[in-house]
Amino acid sequence: MKENSENIKVQKKLNRIGVLTSGGDAPGMNAAIRSVVRSAIYNNIQPVGIYRGYYGLVNRQFVTMQSHSVSKIISQGGTILKSSRLPEFDKREYRDIAIENLREASIDALVVIGGDGSFRGAHLLATENDFPIVGLPGTIDNDIFGTDFTIGFDTAINTAVEAIDKIRDTADSHNLVFFVEVMGRNTGFIGLYTAIATGAEATIIPEVHTDIDSLCDYLLKERRKNKTSGIVIVAEGSDQGSATEIAAKVKAKIPDYETRVTTLGHIQRGGSPTCNDRVLASTLGNASINALISGISDVMIGQVNGLVAYTPFAEACAKHNPINQKWIEVAHILSL
Ligand code: ADP
Repeated sequence: MKENSENIKVQKKLNRIGVLTSGGDAPGMNAAIRSVVRSAIYNNIQPVGIYRGYYGLVNRQFVTMQSHSVSKIISQGGTILKSSRLPEFDKREYRDIAIENLREASIDALVVIGGDGSFRGAHLLATENDFPIVGLPGTIDNDIFGTDFTIGFDTAINTAVEAIDKIRDTADSHNLVFFVEVMGRNTGFIGLYTAIATGAEATIIPEVHTDIDSLCDYLLKERRKNKTSGIVIVAEGSDQGSATEIAAKVKAKIPDYETRVTTLGHIQRGGSPTCNDRVLASTLGNASINALISGISDVMIGQVNGLVAYTPFAEACAKHNPINQKWIEVAHILSL
């Protein structure tokens, strides 16, 4: 997973490097763009911003960037380059147009900041045309293999924790059980981290089968211990459905339960990135330019155990970081 000799080639001098953000936005993408732009300039390479991800690549939405183009964006959520989804990019003809546009604009290499969908596109683009491309993991879901944390995850969990702490006040004051739905696509990283950090009474994540009867037994046991309120964290993608559906199933079995549902939704995607996300994005952005200069391509650049690590796009897309079973145990033990 570290440096892979198959991905290292003798590289011609890079004069212009493109950078784009694709798929779901994540806080810290701007810090990554800033790092790519300034690291390129430091190495006498002209950075070129590509607006709206692959859509902008296919439609030639290019802008040359200077150091001041990325001034003061390190603290901003979202992405100044905008993002989009272009389903047609799975067709070769669209990728061929993209490569033609890159060559016409004299762009020698590309940095793609996005999630695994974006890396699937980047892998095809790089391998079909022998075009140098590296990727940076930008998603709040932390669902990408080859990095301990994705850019945006830390901000998302801090936003969720702040919101759930506030919900807890109302739950306590009114003896309510709140079912709080957090994001995560099909993974429980946001769910589990926020559950541990907020002391949730129960956690429902896609990686673990949820039995509604057992959940009800558990909640009733909590009530017998004079716990008059509770927080149940429900991660997106659970096998029992959404927080609304799970709350309804619990209510049907325990009719006198006062339940409420809150779906945190897109507030988890926005906002000023945390220090951790800014540092991660800055480190990886700089590593992306160094990698391209060294002739490395077709890899995602992540951080594993504090060190920069390259993972071939194909592997980053095919594999998943497992949820640490210990965290599940800790969340359960501490909710007693
Ligand atoms: P994310 O990168 O956050 O996972 P998506 O899955 O929506 O977000 O992917 C972003 C974009 O990447 C898509 O709109 C599409 O343009 C491109 N993409 C995704 N999957 C593929 C694929 N299999 N082949 C080519 N391009 C893809």
